[in-house]
Amino acid sequence: MKVFKFGGASVKDADSVRNVAAVLGSQGFDKCLLVVSAMGKTTNALESVVEKYFKKEDYQSEIEEIKKNHIAVAKGLFKEEHTVFGEISLFFDDIDSFLRRNKSPNYSFVYDQVVSCGELISSKILSEYLNEEGYTNQWLDARDYIKTDNTYREGSVNWQLTEANMETIDRSKSYVTQGFIGSDENNFTVTLGREGSDYSAAIFAYCLGADAMTIWKDVPGVMTGDPRKFKNVELLSNISYEEAIEMAYYGASVIHPKTLQPLKQKHIPFFVKSFVEPEKKGTKVGISENNQHIESYILKDNQILMNIATRDFSFIAEEHLSLIFSLLAKYKIKISLMQNSAISLALCLEDKYHHIDELNEELSRTFNTEVVKNVSLFTVRNANMDDLTRFYENRKVLLEQTSRQTLQMVTA
Ligand code: ASP
Ligand code: MG
Repeated sequence: MKVFKFGGASVKDADSVRNVAAVLGSQGFDKCLLVVSAMGKTTNALESVVEKYFKKEDYQSEIEEIKKNHIAVAKGLFKEEHTVFGEISLFFDDIDSFLRRNKSPNYSFVYDQVVSCGELISSKILSEYLNEEGYTNQWLDARDYIKTDNTYREGSVNWQLTEANMETIDRSKSYVTQGFIGSDENNFTVTLGREGSDYSAAIFAYCLGADAMTIWKDVPGVMTGDPRKFKNVELLSNISYEEAIEMAYYGASVIHPKTLQPLKQKHIPFFVKSFVEPEKKGTKVGISENNQHIESYILKDNQILMNIATRDFSFIAEEHLSLIFSLLAKYKIKISLMQNSAISLALCLEDKYHHIDELNEELSRTFNTEVVKNVSLFTVRNANMDDLTRFYENRKVLLEQTSRQTLQMVTA
């Protein structure tokens, strides 16, 4: 089997959905499992529904708005009497009645039950449309297959159960299913974290033992830098799993960090290709001999620089580090880069859940701390070390680190 993943941008309106069919036309849709994200910016809109619900603001009109957008897309694809319109309405009624009845104060739980509907609806529309166009497929509810723990908003996959569930999938057929979602042991919906659809595709690819997985994007493949941020970037046609994982770690948003591990484990080739020009080769990520060592640039914005120093002039030693790391884990703050000296530790941090002030407050009971918000982490992979001065021009560097192949700087 092969696994395809189409993201939100590739199904954002009726023309885009038609383009998905065109891509399948050129690539073939035989023994294919297609994973799709929510349409366009639906996930953000559903997040805002949940936010309003908890703030006791008018969330209903927001639901109506999202529903209107989906109906408009469907109108561009189906005849008026098509059953899909009823199905779309049902999904929105479900959100509404869930929220009316809900008693749970658990934000993340409620979030998952609501926000997951974006993928359910988009996959329904796409599945129905493809069937009409002759791309025969069965709609699968990913929650019947991907099982997780109950860490809502960041479900951790139970691989054993998930693999066993996928045994029942007939590998000679084609399917359309959702990215981003799974379910816990009580069958409540659990999401896998924002941008998690690539990861879903990798989970399916792994469990099905797929021959290949392709992610269809609005860029030609993995580039040596984000074309929106850097000039003169080029396409990387071949990179290793290891290089891809490093790039994802440093913040290359074209690759979702969790996606690579399952693919690497089974040596499943992974392609990143353009849904605008599907005939082009794109990037192949695979086993390491094929890695290209080309200078690449990654810019990660929205970082925090934190300096932690001992008060009594003692060394930053193991006990200090273990306290600091345990607090980082407690607040789910991730380290993007770190550097220590005798009495201080500098950390470049990513604070997805906005806990930095609480962390700082706890740490400042023991240490002298300094926090600089809103800095960037600039990484150069495979840097040409003979000519580094060009990277310092027009940059205010607060912290830097170089290893054999990588130059990193935290800039204001
Ligand atoms: N729809 C989800 C999001 O926007 C998952 C994804 O697109 O990968 O985060
Ligand atoms: Mg997306």
